[in-house]
Amino acid sequence: MKAVDILIKNANEIVTLNGPNRPRKMKEMNELSIIENGSVAIDNGAIVDVGKNLTYNSDKIINAKGKIVLPGFVDPHTHVVFAGSREFELDMKLKGLSYMDILKSGGGIFYTVEKTRNATKDQLIQQAKNRLDKMLRYGTTTCEAKSGYGLDTKTELKILEVNKKLNESHPIDILSTFLGAHAIPKGKSADEYTNEIIEEMIPKISHLSKFCDVFCEEGIFTVDQSKKILEAGKTHGLIPKIHADEIVDTGGASLAADIGAISADHLLMSSDDGLRKMAEKGVIGVLLPGTPFSLMQELYAPARKIIDMGVAVALATDLNPNCWVENMQFMIQLGCLKMKMTPSEAITAATFNAACAIDLSDRIGSVEVGKQADILVLDCPNHKHIPYHFGVNLVEKIIKNGVVL
Ligand SMILES: [Zn+2]
Repeated sequence: MKAVDILIKNANEIVTLNGPNRPRKMKEMNELSIIENGSVAIDNGAIVDVGKNLTYNSDKIINAKGKIVLPGFVDPHTHVVFAGSREFELDMKLKGLSYMDILKSGGGIFYTVEKTRNATKDQLIQQAKNRLDKMLRYGTTTCEAKSGYGLDTKTELKILEVNKKLNESHPIDILSTFLGAHAIPKGKSADEYTNEIIEEMIPKISHLSKFCDVFCEEGIFTVDQSKKILEAGKTHGLIPKIHADEIVDTGGASLAADIGAISADHLLMSSDDGLRKMAEKGVIGVLLPGTPFSLMQELYAPARKIIDMGVAVALATDLNPNCWVENMQFMIQLGCLKMKMTPSEAITAATFNAACAIDLSDRIGSVEVGKQADILVLDCPNHKHIPYHFGVNLVEKIIKNGVVL
């Protein structure tokens, strides 16, 4: 018998998500390719065999009887590096104050920008590490992380350098996105700041990022400004992403399709036309149900419609000081209970399609031979328990890169 580093056996379900290496859409999102009573063999950090009744020798055998095995969760939209916290805003939100009211009274994004500008690299690393530790405990093995709480070249660079340090030192793999266009800093016009991003920031930060993102929203960056920024990012090798149509339909979904973005995120207000274009061009829709939840909003992204129109959907936390959540299991729960996704769709959205949204589906997102061994054992009898049994952490074991943590 061949020896392997780790053998997981007797799992009630191995949720493999075996299938073509492209974003799963429509009916494909319901196809989890489950192996019942299955095993997974892991060697040298990679998955080497998946099936029923595998026979290997191993010093490390994990008996997953009564449990399920899943690919590690991928969180494709976070703002994990920031300083300070804004729990004081909750009282204001409960009194019915709007985001704009909170902003005017000294809260909101500029509060976080101030704290982040004043924080040292070490302070940012310490605070973000704490969040990453929680993400990992809840099963996230890879995430995307945006800059955007600097709004000046120096601080944006500092955040992206922190991302790099964390990626090197933390078990979670972290992919960086430059989001200098997160808000317009005080004292500058949108056009002035757009030029600064294009002429000064992007050339200086592009070596630290894989993606370039823009907050395309009424009163922040127009479609035209967003387009200029994303085009400039592209000429420096950055793949476009967009915060699109969260509050108002400004045409962000259409822009994502026109510019060849890998994903458009939020999509609460997107037009049918924009969504249709996204489906045609294969732009992934990243839905962030934690945001309306934390804003106590009734309105969530219309996931049912978005999926039925043929857009491949992923889920993410949007972890940020206004939506502080590290837990992708909770996103699956909100996906089902608030957005009417099926359990299978929500699991696909939190694993394989999420990997597609950060261009890593060739390496992660499924339990298939040859892939990086990022694997979870969940203490529940079948995958439908993930949206059903909420408020607890179902993750029992985390294997990252073939190492049991
Ligand atoms: Zn965001």
